[in-house]
Amino acid sequence: MTMRLPRTALLGCLAILSVGLAAPLARAAGTAAERIYVNARVWTGDSSQPAAEAFAVRGDRIVTVGTTAEVRSHAGPATEIVDLDGHRVVPGFNDAHWHLPARKDARLDNAGSVAVIQQRLQDYARTLPADAWVTGRGWMPPDFPDNTAHKRYLDEAFPDRPVVIRDRDGHQALANTRALQLAKVTRGTPEPADGIVVRDANGEPTGLLKEGAAALVRDLLPELTADDTYQLLLGEVAAAASFGLTSLQDATEGGLTDNERAAVTRAIAGNRLPVRYRSAVPFEERPSQRRLRRHVADCEAAHGTLHTCGFAKLILDGTVDAKTAVMLEPYVGGGNGVPFLSQRDLDRGVAAYDRAGLQVEIHAIGDGAIRMALDAFEHAAKVNGTSGRRHRVEHIEVPALADLPRFRQLGVIASTQAIFATPDASTLLNYIPLIGDERGSRAQPFRLFDDAGARQAFGSDYPVYPMDPLLGIYTAATRQTRAGTPEGGWFPHNRIGVETALAHYTRDAAFAEFADADKGTIAAGKYADFVVLSRDILSIPPRELLDTRVLLTVMGGRETYRAPIAGGEP
Ligand SMILES: [Zn+2]
Repeated sequence: MTMRLPRTALLGCLAILSVGLAAPLARAAGTAAERIYVNARVWTGDSSQPAAEAFAVRGDRIVTVGTTAEVRSHAGPATEIVDLDGHRVVPGFNDAHWHLPARKDARLDNAGSVAVIQQRLQDYARTLPADAWVTGRGWMPPDFPDNTAHKRYLDEAFPDRPVVIRDRDGHQALANTRALQLAKVTRGTPEPADGIVVRDANGEPTGLLKEGAAALVRDLLPELTADDTYQLLLGEVAAAASFGLTSLQDATEGGLTDNERAAVTRAIAGNRLPVRYRSAVPFEERPSQRRLRRHVADCEAAHGTLHTCGFAKLILDGTVDAKTAVMLEPYVGGGNGVPFLSQRDLDRGVAAYDRAGLQVEIHAIGDGAIRMALDAFEHAAKVNGTSGRRHRVEHIEVPALADLPRFRQLGVIASTQAIFATPDASTLLNYIPLIGDERGSRAQPFRLFDDAGARQAFGSDYPVYPMDPLLGIYTAATRQTRAGTPEGGWFPHNRIGVETALAHYTRDAAFAEFADADKGTIAAGKYADFVVLSRDILSIPPRELLDTRVLLTVMGGRETYRAPIAGGEP
């Protein structure tokens, strides 16, 4: 039997994977490795043995790591030996902040103009039944004239079919006139408590619905069937495996819907889940002790399976782009943003989960909300006498410098998204003008977190941004767009090295979900979760990360992705 790694245009050479002969001193079949990977350049992430050339796998675990000769001694008569032809191997990527999309949408990312948005929506609409709602996501204010989204741009293309599109961050939606009619949103509609119906000078809704106001329209969208959700899940997790992801931490507030939970369970039963999946339990401001005990028991029972839990997620503020992130000082042009919970309610809720032994993830983007989150974690540890809960702040886009050391002091995880530092049009034309240069210089401060000794875990916030970890690592290392702009990087003092970024996407992400005993490094006893890359990302210029491809993804000893062979079978 001969196995081959793909011949790709990038490689230009063929890596041959061959099964070795039985070792002369074969181990008893029961303890021999099933598969041995040799001739690799392994970045283990394990400080006691940072580099290796081979490792052996039995069942879903790595049994030994070392030199080719050392590892070969673990071979038995049936052991398969895989020659990785000198390729770089890293632990499976772990996206610490990911979301299962609620539905299929037209993708409006990087549209750049109203015409492109209209065109993409029309193309997508043609794939749907004639009267179905048209939904999309990914627009940004600079896509519209005067930086202002308005229903008229959707009405031009869809005069009598309902359309609602979410912005890239999911904190504002734009509805057309037909959608507003169906939702009965008029000038007489009262302002919802948790959002804003944006109106023109005459009080007429413009179609722009911020934060909770979007629900006025989105609640009318038809539910997906259980099978729709299952197919959606399979498509998303297959994409994840193709990017080298072996673990996904679903940060959706409230956890999975019944349909989504059933889809994950069905995928596991059918051996079709190629990732380890973690999802939230609901966060309630005043949870009952019974509910909390139930969550803890459920999550303990799920430990070690492919679908785990153990944390609650809550959203404390909005986004800078929507001016809903809570800032200590006002935005340029006024307004600080309003937190979704008072400090008192936040403290009480967080303390209840902390006491029960559950981790809490708080979405906090502005320096004001970040401080509130840290204060709540500090309060919980104090009143409960707890430590080691690994509570997390999610996004932490613009922290106050004075709060950086608190992450280490309080043992709070800095859960950041490298790709948020993409200096695209919305960053340069909307984000920075809203907060100004001083705060911009401490936005997405990956280096400052590392220098402050924080444990930093990387994620993508997919589907807000692409889930590709190599693109995230590229962004962390360059702070440039894919096109390489701006020259030298955007606030380049906050760039970090590729190896550090890799650790944030593997070892640190595992720590952030209490899974560091089982994964995050390539070491004996850990799950056999790893990725083979087309280039050695630790020795090429960061720019070439954009041309690096995943050749092979293995999760729990099982191959979950293999790059297609370019140019046919050799
Ligand atoms: Zn998110």
